[in-house]
Amino acid sequence: MTESVSDVAANLAAIKARIDAAAAEAGRPPGAARLIAVSKVQPVEKLEAALAAGHRLFGENRVQEAKAKFPAARDRYPDIELHLIGPLQTNKVKEAVALFDVIQTLDRPKLAAALAAEGRRQGRLPRLFVEVNTGSEPQKAGIAPDGLAGFLAECRDIHGLAVEGLMCIPPAEADPAPHFDLLARLAARHGLGAVSMGMSGDYEQAVRAGATFVRVGTAIFGERLKPDAASQADG
Ligand SMILES: *Cc1c(COP(=O)(O)O)cnc(C)c1O
Repeated sequence: MTESVSDVAANLAAIKARIDAAAAEAGRPPGAARLIAVSKVQPVEKLEAALAAGHRLFGENRVQEAKAKFPAARDRYPDIELHLIGPLQTNKVKEAVALFDVIQTLDRPKLAAALAAEGRRQGRLPRLFVEVNTGSEPQKAGIAPDGLAGFLAECRDIHGLAVEGLMCIPPAEADPAPHFDLLARLAARHGLGAVSMGMSGDYEQAVRAGATFVRVGTAIFGERLKPDAASQADG
């Protein structure tokens, strides 16, 4: 894929149509799933093209990179909604709380404590999703499915955090379908309305399984120029 800047608007429109079609197939209304445009590592011209096309919902996976791009964009487009979809180190919590509307990667007790403390200091707190390690992969971030109930209780009862949703990144080589179904079931069981799952290759499947947010990068913007830092610690 060699999407140019001029392709971004067309890609956004096509993907939104496919999301709504997938939702309809599952008996869900248009708009049931929202498109997060993952702008990490993309040239700023492509972010600008998405903004010019009217898109406002973005995902970034590193705090420093988001901080370099989004405060300036927000000066011109105050209705931007920005989600952190990559791992969050506790030493970046202060900046993340100040910058993001949603943090999708709450994945450990220490981070819950740090977010709660920083929320009190800043008097604001992003909406929070818990990342679930649906494949129980040892090297991967996220709360194991059988630890989710306990972690949600800890967030609520010890830290006073209101978790709104769940997110997952299924194992790279696996069929994502069972992971999407599991995440949707866990969200329903815990009364959580937001379900973030599905990327460029499988977002329609995720929508049919109940995603309320899909996270799509390359299908909108083209291949990233630099390696994907998705699985790296935030630097
Ligand atoms: C990069 C990234 C995406 C987007 O991936 P594409 O395959 O480019 O659509 C989605 N989710 C997370 C967590 C990511 O890091």
